[in-house]
Amino acid sequence: MKFSDFCKYLEKIEATASRLEMTSILADLFKQLSADDIKPGVYLLLGRIGPLYEGKEFGLAEKTVVSAAVAGLGVEKKVFDKVYQQLGDVGEVVYKLKQQSNSLFKTDPDLSFVYQRLRKIADLSGKGSLTAKKEIVADMIREYPALTAKYLARLISGKLRLGFSDMTVLDGLSWFLKGDKSLRPLLEHAYHVRPDLGLIAYLVKTKNLNGIETIEPEVFVPIIMMRAERVKQIPDIIEKLGQCLVEPKYDGFRLQVHKKGNEVKMFSRNLEQVAYMYPDLKQAVLEQISAESIIFEGEAIGFDPQTDEFLPFQETSQRRRKYDIEELSQKIPLKLFVFELLYLNGQSFINKKLMERKAKIRSILKSEPEANLVIAEDHLVSKTEEIEVLFDQYVSEGLEGIMAKKIDGVYKPGAREFNWIKFKASYSQKINDTIDTVVLGYYYGKGKRSEFGIGAFLVGVYDKNLDKFCSIAKIGTGVSDQQWRELKHLFDKNRSSNKPKEYFVDSQIVPDVWVAPKFVVEVSADEITYSPVHTAGKSAGYHKNSGFALRFPRMVRLRSDKDVYDITTVQEIGRLVKI
Ligand code: ATP
Repeated sequence: MKFSDFCKYLEKIEATASRLEMTSILADLFKQLSADDIKPGVYLLLGRIGPLYEGKEFGLAEKTVVSAAVAGLGVEKKVFDKVYQQLGDVGEVVYKLKQQSNSLFKTDPDLSFVYQRLRKIADLSGKGSLTAKKEIVADMIREYPALTAKYLARLISGKLRLGFSDMTVLDGLSWFLKGDKSLRPLLEHAYHVRPDLGLIAYLVKTKNLNGIETIEPEVFVPIIMMRAERVKQIPDIIEKLGQCLVEPKYDGFRLQVHKKGNEVKMFSRNLEQVAYMYPDLKQAVLEQISAESIIFEGEAIGFDPQTDEFLPFQETSQRRRKYDIEELSQKIPLKLFVFELLYLNGQSFINKKLMERKAKIRSILKSEPEANLVIAEDHLVSKTEEIEVLFDQYVSEGLEGIMAKKIDGVYKPGAREFNWIKFKASYSQKINDTIDTVVLGYYYGKGKRSEFGIGAFLVGVYDKNLDKFCSIAKIGTGVSDQQWRELKHLFDKNRSSNKPKEYFVDSQIVPDVWVAPKFVVEVSADEITYSPVHTAGKSAGYHKNSGFALRFPRMVRLRSDKDVYDITTVQEIGRLVKI
């Protein structure tokens, strides 16, 4: 396919206001793309160059793309800036100026050729790479047609926001195969095992359903992590699970460790590769794990070697840094409490029962008291009183609470079900857990806050059934002066001049500035209440004509380890209020 034809699809997608129509445009695109083109095509649709977990980026700020565009278009910077002021979007400016210039474009390249050039931009690194990257961008803008140049400028500056999620691509694939959405659960499962949409699309294109039904984990490709449901009170745990395995809930960060031979990679919750931050843990994996290839999970938590006590989350989280790594690993040593085995020596373990996975991981982890890798403690219990005793004990040791696990449960990638139940020490009487929300916009501050340019922000939760973010609260407390400044800076990098599309963000409330849904904020509140102005759960009719709202919401922390599709859902809140 010509890249310019691919851009016509992007244009069509951008113009539609209906999710259904968008899905059918995607299905049509998948039909037109050849087997060779479908992989790059899918990555580019999502504004990426490869699967998310590869972490490859173009590495060019918008400012740099603008300067490359100015060179490519052969205009003066002030001409570009003037049009930018009117249009506010680098792609639109490139398009307009390209159309106005008399220079005819020289080539109309194929998608695969453009993809290779884009890949080169992402691959270039080290001295002189910025100049080389800029030159490629300038050449492409100079040589290619206006519409192509427009989308390339947006793509490279990270501003290609077509307003759909990975899930919409899966719907598109289902429509492509079957003309409806019914294959989405199957596709979603495959995606949770191998979160590479390019690969899934390629398998669908070349092998239909056969390609995805048999999908297996692969070392160095992260598996989307299983998550826990919550209950309102401890007796509900036994009611849901019967006899179960109770482990402490460590308040650190989750790691999925992949090892093959002497190579070790680690992934965070949002699939970022983070092994370079934890040389101490990497070394421990090589020393303590006796397996050729393995995928396992645990929670890493800082401890004080003097007292052997756990550190609070704020201190542990200092280890999630990109610099001063050696120094920090001395200052805040980590222990990784291992609780899951997903793959071992060529064999997938995700469909095996919990007790079998546990027994196996115990047998291959050499655990000594002083070691950095330790098997998470567990207790088989069948009575509420036993869980209560464990809960009190763990909380008094500075842990967060408990995780109760279904003994014959399989590992369900990406699922949040009653396979695992978390119960945390209460933050308040009414809600015994925090809620993860996404920032939708912010308000200019009043009084003292006007100095920061931000005084409050609007947040939403994710409606899984509607695949939208819906508003739930406006937050103005729990934020220090320094944090306000940081939040403003962060949000401004992703402000959007228009309201996001209806099917993406559902909010009756209009903040002063819209922010593209990207930042996850953990929020605590006293109670879940109802409000006619919020849209979370409104259309599902949980409560008359109202949506869910939060009473006294306050920011706990920014969760940069979480993806926006990983936040609390409307459906979870619905269950919390119903219990
Ligand atoms: P929270 O914000 O409550 O920590 P979350 O939304 O980040 O939770 P959940 O999946 O709901 O994620 O809660 C489970 C998390 O608890 C896991 O992702 C993991 O990081 C952590 N955890 C701590 N101890 C355990 C354990 N023993 N077993 C499983 N997960 C554990």
